[in-house]
Amino acid sequence: MEQFIGQPRLPKFASPKRYDIRLKPDLVTCKFSGSIAIDLDIISETKFIVLNAADLSIQYETVSFTRKASSSYSRPVPGRTAQVLGSAPSSSSTNLFFFPSVVLNFLWQWWQRLCTWLFSLPTLEGFGTNVFEPCKVHLVQEDEILILEFPETLPPGIGVLAIGFEGILNDKMKVFYRSTYEHNTEKKNMGVTQFEPVEARRCFPCWDEPACKATFKITLDVPSDLVALSNMPIVDEKVEGHIKTVVYQESPIMSTYLVAVVIGFFDYVEDHTSDGVKVRVYSQVGKQNQGKFALNVAVKTLELYREYFAVPYPLPKLDMIAIPDFAYGAMENYGLVTYRETALLYDEQHSAAANKQLVAIVIVVTHELAHQWFGNLVTMEWWTHLWLKEGFATWVSFLATDCLFPEWKAWTQFLQQSVEGLRLDELAESHPIEVEINHAGEIDEIFDAISYRKGASVIQMLQSYLGAECFQRSLASYIKRHAFSNAKTEDLWAALEEGSGEPVNEIMNSWTKQKGYPVVSVKIKDNKLEFEQSQFLLSDSHGDGQWIVPIIYCCGSYDEYRNVLLETKSTSIDLEERGAWIKVNVDQTGFYRVKYDEDLQAELRYAIDNKMLTATDRFGILDDSFALCMARQQSLTSLLTLMAAYREELDCTVLSNLITISYKIARIAADASPELMNCIKFFFIVLLQYSSEKLGWEAKEGESHLDAMLRGQVLSALAEFGDEPTLKEASRRFHAFLDDRSTPLLPPDIRKAAYVAVMHTVNASNRSGFESLLRVYRETDLSQEKTRILESLASCPDPNIILEVLNFTLSSEVRSQDAISALAVSWEGRETAWNWLRENWEHIAKTWGSGSLIRRFVSSIVSPLASFEKAREVEDFFATRSKPSIARTLKQSIERVNINAHWVQSIQNEGHIAETVELLYQKN
Ligand SMILES: [Zn+2]
Repeated sequence: MEQFIGQPRLPKFASPKRYDIRLKPDLVTCKFSGSIAIDLDIISETKFIVLNAADLSIQYETVSFTRKASSSYSRPVPGRTAQVLGSAPSSSSTNLFFFPSVVLNFLWQWWQRLCTWLFSLPTLEGFGTNVFEPCKVHLVQEDEILILEFPETLPPGIGVLAIGFEGILNDKMKVFYRSTYEHNTEKKNMGVTQFEPVEARRCFPCWDEPACKATFKITLDVPSDLVALSNMPIVDEKVEGHIKTVVYQESPIMSTYLVAVVIGFFDYVEDHTSDGVKVRVYSQVGKQNQGKFALNVAVKTLELYREYFAVPYPLPKLDMIAIPDFAYGAMENYGLVTYRETALLYDEQHSAAANKQLVAIVIVVTHELAHQWFGNLVTMEWWTHLWLKEGFATWVSFLATDCLFPEWKAWTQFLQQSVEGLRLDELAESHPIEVEINHAGEIDEIFDAISYRKGASVIQMLQSYLGAECFQRSLASYIKRHAFSNAKTEDLWAALEEGSGEPVNEIMNSWTKQKGYPVVSVKIKDNKLEFEQSQFLLSDSHGDGQWIVPIIYCCGSYDEYRNVLLETKSTSIDLEERGAWIKVNVDQTGFYRVKYDEDLQAELRYAIDNKMLTATDRFGILDDSFALCMARQQSLTSLLTLMAAYREELDCTVLSNLITISYKIARIAADASPELMNCIKFFFIVLLQYSSEKLGWEAKEGESHLDAMLRGQVLSALAEFGDEPTLKEASRRFHAFLDDRSTPLLPPDIRKAAYVAVMHTVNASNRSGFESLLRVYRETDLSQEKTRILESLASCPDPNIILEVLNFTLSSEVRSQDAISALAVSWEGRETAWNWLRENWEHIAKTWGSGSLIRRFVSSIVSPLASFEKAREVEDFFATRSKPSIARTLKQSIERVNINAHWVQSIQNEGHIAETVELLYQKN
């Protein structure tokens, strides 16, 4: 038995083929009971069956293994089949070695026939040799496995493993949990499952590894007045008293982490795809109309993916459902996708149209639906390849969005994804895209910006290198080849290599198997354009990574795209004509940063000023410059001088990143010198004048989706920087809103700006704005509005109010999924938040410790600190409190504190910043 303890993966001598699961949840007592019958293929003789299980009470007397009469599975038995086919038996296998193979074949065939005949006799079903009962049953909690030891050897072939069990409907937003909602003014529980990555084993014993695919036949016993959903359509329903038994159609083969069940009171809206797939969006009763937008997106997306992947959607129906308590954005369960309410529901009157549509709903829906092929139909072989499905779904969701809503410029918006990847991967404490996973507890932490955003970015880099058409064709053949099966990263590279003839595997290994990315330094010397790569890191640590970098650049115009594959440390190219500017990493499809020499940089600044560059390139130049400044490879003066070239910027993605960067600079400047802070804030107010005048407070007739989205961001920034006219106008509109919730003066797109402005004027002796916002919070049942208010509350500059806000997030008025919204507090509130975190750590660790949200508490509150002393304080505090699930996040957050501290020092040493800034805004 010892041999099974401490192993990362389950032993391979038994493989599940079909699960027959019956669950009976009690939503009042919050418990469930269940039974499972697993068709199991015993591959080699064994006295043990080892599978995953945890936190369940196993009813030992129900555990049995029954040999099945005849096998409906045609899996060849390794070794034995080889003998049947006439090949010589291997010498090491048995002492049958001494028989000639012909005799052996003959005997073997007769033995098989005899077995089939014997087991087909119904009267023999109960005979001892057919039913095996374990002599020992061990639940090894540490390894989350159940070991069944039998007195006799189980013969190879198909049998049924039966187990009865009981469990708890928890409130931790994972496994089989309860989410609360109001129905007819009564508080109710709904039952929801969330199994990814490794929670299915806490709901029913199973082979809980993505490669152990099987079919699932699910039966639920639930209160007869409730809606009960699962992956497949209902085939039978019987009501007996208050309980109904719902039987679902058996699923195609799939992994355990994709099994799902949801039970509660729901309404829905419904539509069909052109090839007859029934699509529904479920929500709480009365909110069904808020599902219409997502329904429309889903139907179009399924049709689009059917074309793109060249394989039809594999199931007869697709349900999507909004869950009031949800730890993630959404979960792609096969045929039953679950969402946080803010990621699925859209309210014409109260949702910030732009923002929520694009970021929350469209991107999330298209991402989850991509998984129905990439992830569900073709599944990663092991969690090391998690990035493959997440990176791909993230990338393709932008492709879909771009097709469905071309006016949204999805590929420009994609840059926000790459930037998040770049910002995490420039830490020494980052990790490679492909990570070795040895324990289930390590999986949770890789659901991060590396797997999703860097993963998506390197896929985009590869796609633009290979060309869209070749990429799609190879991808379709990959899907076809691995459908209803599993694949590794190398399998995708192999398909792309076959389709393109390019050394995809070699190029991509340099991006997926090592952490970090390069900065490519570019300069001109003797009419040669020189490229040199080195690893880019924000901290002082030195990295010696090297990559194969596909470089695309343009000289003076976009008429000709030039390519070079940087395979070594450096290379150079003869330049005959160079034009007025040289932009490297054109369209920002490469996952690297570019550092230009001073002349090239000045030319680019001129080109931006004179509107010669595309939005994606303007975005890239600014973001690279910001990163280089943070890494102390470029002065703040030089960054601010570049920023001044963006004063007439109107592109939503570029301006939105410029605003994010401004916030960060304002904070770091405040740490470096309080006088500098005021001067810099004023510079940013001046910088945003042009766009704020263009956009105004009122929506223009027929304006673009992106302008609507941008307006709120520009106004919020002006409020943050303390722009008096903005604060005054916001206050006027907010008061009109307090008098009349449907006033046209405060539509959802600008509501957050008004809330931020209101909180900017709130302090301990002037609390009325704060109280009013809390009132609005309590009144609304719209999750988006609640989140918007929580985020705004945190922006208050008064530390006393910040403390109240943080305590409020721990109250029963804030769902535990939403508490993280108020953690990004103002610069003035940082210290308070850090003290608060320490004082409440025990409670926080207890409430959120078992899930992924705990990491947000650490990163949001620790990362903004900016002194070496604070970094040590954090280290000391967590020395005895860290655990594997937060270890990496904690190290990354501490690294950021040190980076901030270094940056503060370098700004203090720089000198003359204020003078330069004054000159800059005088020029404006
Ligand atoms: Zn995903």
